[in-house]
Amino acid sequence: MAQGMGGGMTDAHASPLKLFNSLTRSLEEFQPVHPGEARVYSCGPTVYNYPHIGNMRAYVFADTLGRTLSYKGYKLTHVINITDVGHLTDDADAGEDKLEKAAAERAQSIWDIARHYTEAYWADIKALNIRQPAHWSIATDYVPAMIDFAKTIADKHCYELDGGLYFDTTTVADYGRLARHGTDEGESRIDPVDGKRHPADFAIWRKTPAGETRQMEWDSPWGRGAPGWHLECSVMSEALLGFPFDIHTGGIDHREIHHPNEIAQNQAHSCSTDSGARMWMHNNFLVERSGKMSKSSGEFLRVQLLIDKGYHPLAYRLMCLQAHYRSELEFSWEGLGAALTRLKRLVMAAAPVRDAEATEPADRRLTDLLAKFDAAMSDDLNTAVALTLLEEAAAMKKVDAGQKHAALAAMDAVLGLDLLTIERADLRVRPKTAAIGEEDIEAILTRRKEARDAKDFAASDALRDELIAAGVEVMDGDPLGWDWRLSN
Ligand code: AMP
Ligand code: ZN
Repeated sequence: MAQGMGGGMTDAHASPLKLFNSLTRSLEEFQPVHPGEARVYSCGPTVYNYPHIGNMRAYVFADTLGRTLSYKGYKLTHVINITDVGHLTDDADAGEDKLEKAAAERAQSIWDIARHYTEAYWADIKALNIRQPAHWSIATDYVPAMIDFAKTIADKHCYELDGGLYFDTTTVADYGRLARHGTDEGESRIDPVDGKRHPADFAIWRKTPAGETRQMEWDSPWGRGAPGWHLECSVMSEALLGFPFDIHTGGIDHREIHHPNEIAQNQAHSCSTDSGARMWMHNNFLVERSGKMSKSSGEFLRVQLLIDKGYHPLAYRLMCLQAHYRSELEFSWEGLGAALTRLKRLVMAAAPVRDAEATEPADRRLTDLLAKFDAAMSDDLNTAVALTLLEEAAAMKKVDAGQKHAALAAMDAVLGLDLLTIERADLRVRPKTAAIGEEDIEAILTRRKEARDAKDFAASDALRDELIAAGVEVMDGDPLGWDWRLSN
């Protein structure tokens, strides 16, 4: 089984793991800070609304990275944070706090909003078979630590304005190296803060304006208020993973503002040029044909919407894996449908060995595939190739069932499609709008078969029409053996 194989550097784990480091814009071999360990921090969601499926691509990517590190034998410590304070409507510190705004609009407590959307996010994490990280770090639990961190950098790197404490980005070497911009290139993201010394300077602490109260505010040496968003990740990553740690992940948008700001804070705090993480890795965006994915315009693409329309959530995971994480991926319902079909085929191919007892793969064809799989994943997580190798293994005939089971389990431990656990029937998700139950469908289909056997084609056609009227598409001769599906 996968667990048995993940421990040592056997042949199937011989390829050196190369990952693309955004900091150097090149592939680098993974060299852990602590031998045998991998410590990974992923920027988590801001819990003021449901995550869209684009956000979830970031966590499928982080999970695939974590699974690969475990597969390569590293002891993984993964942290994902929950941002429940500090993230403004504009990443560059302009606008309002996203959570304060949502709470005011809905006349709800900010804590209730945060809890509701955190739970919704966790439901998506589970649906997409994303492994639980070692820690979910909640930003509001770390505010005292953020204040302590800010105190250590305030004198040398910050200045105070009416609005709060600001970080002077010219006080650290190479500000914006990650984003590849000079400090003056932030023109497009100038926020309207009077007195900022440089466009890219950002808030470490935001004072509550006189005469206002916020639902979330704390006392600090710079007045009552709330921490800046970038501060939380510097503080929580160091608290839970040490300094420096191995890999910091996030969506490609974070390469431009959030992560350069984290790096600046880390350098100031450590009095060094160390960025805090050895590698910074970024997933590209999921986009819609019409452009950027948004929570407010058009159809709000949430994992729950996919399920409501009858798509199993793991079809979306597979859709993500079909593309390289550094490529933009365009979402379409047709693409999702194709991914679901691909998943069905895989699950069907794996079914005959599902209950076989796993034995170490010795068959040359399987060990070759496992070595190629290792090479693909070690090549900056080439999941697209890895998937085809999984399919090859699943389709292999005349092979020992126990060995095949073990090989599929080892590959699936990395890809996370639950191949040996889910059944074909699980993949037939019932669309929310469907009015007819499965037993009724099966009963009508049985009557239709009887009519056809009796060559009563009029009756058989009538029964088919009855099903169509109920939203059921009859699929005679479907190669996957799916006799019907509910249209959506
Ligand atoms: P947020 O909740 O806005 O902080 O975003 C959560 C994560 O999703 C961050 O890592 C973002 O970089 C990432 N992200 C946002 N939009 C997309 C998208 N369309 N595709 C992929 N990742 C995204
Ligand atoms: Zn972050």
